[in-house]
Amino acid sequence: MFEGLRDKLSNAFKLLSGKGKITEKNIEEAIQIVKTSLLAADVNYKVVKEFVENVKKRALGEEVLKSLTPDQMFIKIVRDELIKLLGEKEPFRLVHHPSYVMMVGLQGTGKTTSAAKIANYLKKQGKHPILVAADTYRPAAIDQLETLGKKIGVPVITGDRKNALKIVEEAIKTVKDSGYDVVILDTAGRLHIDDEMMEELEKIKEMVNPDEILLTVDAMAGQDAVNSAKVFNERLNITGFVITKLDGDSRGGVILTIRYITGKPVKFVGVGEKIDDFDEFYPDRIANRILGLGDVLSLIEKVERELDQEKMKKMGEKFMRAEFTLEDFREQIKEIKKLGIEKILEALPGTPDIDLNTSEKELKKIEAIINSMTPEERDNPAILNASRKKRIAMGSGTTVQDINKLLKSYEEMKKLMKMMKKGKLPFGLRGLKF
Ligand code: GDP
Repeated sequence: MFEGLRDKLSNAFKLLSGKGKITEKNIEEAIQIVKTSLLAADVNYKVVKEFVENVKKRALGEEVLKSLTPDQMFIKIVRDELIKLLGEKEPFRLVHHPSYVMMVGLQGTGKTTSAAKIANYLKKQGKHPILVAADTYRPAAIDQLETLGKKIGVPVITGDRKNALKIVEEAIKTVKDSGYDVVILDTAGRLHIDDEMMEELEKIKEMVNPDEILLTVDAMAGQDAVNSAKVFNERLNITGFVITKLDGDSRGGVILTIRYITGKPVKFVGVGEKIDDFDEFYPDRIANRILGLGDVLSLIEKVERELDQEKMKKMGEKFMRAEFTLEDFREQIKEIKKLGIEKILEALPGTPDIDLNTSEKELKKIEAIINSMTPEERDNPAILNASRKKRIAMGSGTTVQDINKLLKSYEEMKKLMKMMKKGKLPFGLRGLKF
């Protein structure tokens, strides 16, 4: 995975090793190598241009962290920018009951395999998925899905095997009131995009009102795949991607470009032919794979942790000086978002299971509410009477209830700060709901 890119980038890092500090002169060559490495990995030219500009600006402008050498600092910057390019992790959003998930994609990209992988992934989470074999175009697709379904113990609806729309119609009837909570549709692909395929997909979309439309994209197919992803998105307004065959000789161009070009997130990655060779998309893990510098990366992560702790400490001190305002609370929320709620929850003992999908949504809500407040209200939430709350709710597209909930979380956060200041473990998060 990404061997070529990794090897080339390491040459850029080597250039800076042993240097006292980053200067315009010594950075120039390193930046040039980063640029040619990304271009050779088939990353879109526009993306590369912006990427190297950002890296250069930060490398020259940023205060160098004392604990990192110039080459480590440069790696940290490249890593940060790679993560930014890959885009934030976004949840797999299943809201209806049952929820429909449409798998779409060109033939051979791994659509049928990924449909089964997702069913298996959901089953492991205690859900009750069912598969629908509506790829009537590729002759073996229906049998293939049946075989995969048997393997993972998930039923497969095959219908009359000829007419995709009829199969979907039958599936809708079968699934209604059946107890299955997620219906995964394998749809027909083609070797190239054509109108007939798109029209069929549009009809199916209308019939099932899917929560997710996932496009499978072969990581080894390069910029052609990104271009066809753009067309699929324009026609179907997809919700995300499954990037398949990342285990192969993928150069990196697809995964590093697709979000930028389409604006849609990668939700899953396929890393092999077996059912379990499948993972949620974590931008930091992909960036680490691309950089492949185990030791340095753990050092960078340690430094980041220290920086975060430093920030937390400052927040704690602020609170002790009774300065912990809603403005600070908003900053705190941003930090939490940056670190990833998941990581924080994992690190805390005794935290209850919190639905991460809702948490992300709630965090956005909290930010919107605080953004709608006046500076005076942020400094002194005690002045928030009913009419002010109504105004804020209107401004942020939320409800007064949401605002009251936020104020409660804020009080909880204050308590937590106090505990941290005293050096206690943050068990206070136990009851903290976002
Ligand atoms: P479809 O035509 O899009 O439904 O494609 P298939 O699901 O039949 O997959 C095409 C080929 O790609 C099959 O041989 C799969 O085993 C293989 N494949 C699918 N996903 C992956 C993956 O993540 N890694 C690898 N190495 N092979 C994959």
